[in-house]
Amino acid sequence: MIIVMNPDAKKENVDEVVSRLKELGFGIHMSEGESRTVIGAIGDRTRALSLGLEAMEGVEQVVPISKPYKLVSREFKGENSVINFNGVKVGGENVIIMAGPCAVESEEQIIETAVSVKESGASFLRGGAYKPRTSPYAFQGMEEEGLKIMARAREKTGLFIVTEVIDPQGVSLVAEYADVLQVGARNMQNFNLLRELSHARKPVLLKRGLSATIEEWLMAAEYIMSGGNYDVILCERGIRTFETHTRNTLDLSSIPVVKQLSHLPVIVDPSHGTGQRQLVPSMCKGAVAAGADGLMVEVHPNPDKAFCDGPQSLDLNQFKNMIEELKKVAESVGRSI
Ligand code: PEP
Ligand code: MN
Repeated sequence: MIIVMNPDAKKENVDEVVSRLKELGFGIHMSEGESRTVIGAIGDRTRALSLGLEAMEGVEQVVPISKPYKLVSREFKGENSVINFNGVKVGGENVIIMAGPCAVESEEQIIETAVSVKESGASFLRGGAYKPRTSPYAFQGMEEEGLKIMARAREKTGLFIVTEVIDPQGVSLVAEYADVLQVGARNMQNFNLLRELSHARKPVLLKRGLSATIEEWLMAAEYIMSGGNYDVILCERGIRTFETHTRNTLDLSSIPVVKQLSHLPVIVDPSHGTGQRQLVPSMCKGAVAAGADGLMVEVHPNPDKAFCDGPQSLDLNQFKNMIEELKKVAESVGRSI
């Protein structure tokens, strides 16, 4: 439930409500809005009924949260969450662009990509150093050396780094190098990983699982937030359906649904969503028109030679042209790139 304090509640009033809730074993999550404080209390609501919270000084309203996810829900927080990276705001007015290869393959490949995508309008560089591959014989990533290369690309270009972490043991190492910790679709319900990330001090990009419902996806985000890490970016990347023409079915309808249910930013990955580079520009346009806060696009200097996901990767020029086209769509829905 949430306890909405009235706008002129004093700090002592807030403290008293918090200590009353703590006595009964509630987990407390504070949200200090511009005009009022909202206290999120996670625990057994039936026990709270006897507390008489509504009669306490400074309390305006006690509102139950009806959804199974609490901290993630719009009921808990009405305004959009914005994650600020030194002035680059995810969830704000701008549509942010994350671009880069599926995997880190070499320093030259990463630097060439980084310089080019930055010039085209990206503010984040993506690239996997740990690759969870369907086949154990496929390229598994450059591991820590790959993280170092990504960090050097940040130094050179100022781009923020997004890279995947695949297990709880890897979180502290990846967090040393990355600005955003990516949870891949295959790990969306790796609850030990999510718990570890809930204590990390870096934002998390949470991809939707291959067969996850929107509610399961939001519950995974709740795991991360419940441990105190409130900086979660959701990423729609397509789901499994009976359709085989595309690699996955990109569920663009999840954008307005999630926007309605949650305050968290949502971005879209049309590369994994479709598996085919010629479909990426139109799905990017659709995503921006539908209200996505950003895009994650696979880009490679030479897609035909890519170690993985070449068929869905744009080359540097195709990416540049696509961003130019996208600016018009963003503008038409009151946003900019
Ligand atoms: C990726 O973004 O590198 C990736 C593996 O995507 P997904 O987890 O969505 O399949
Ligand atoms: Mn990929």
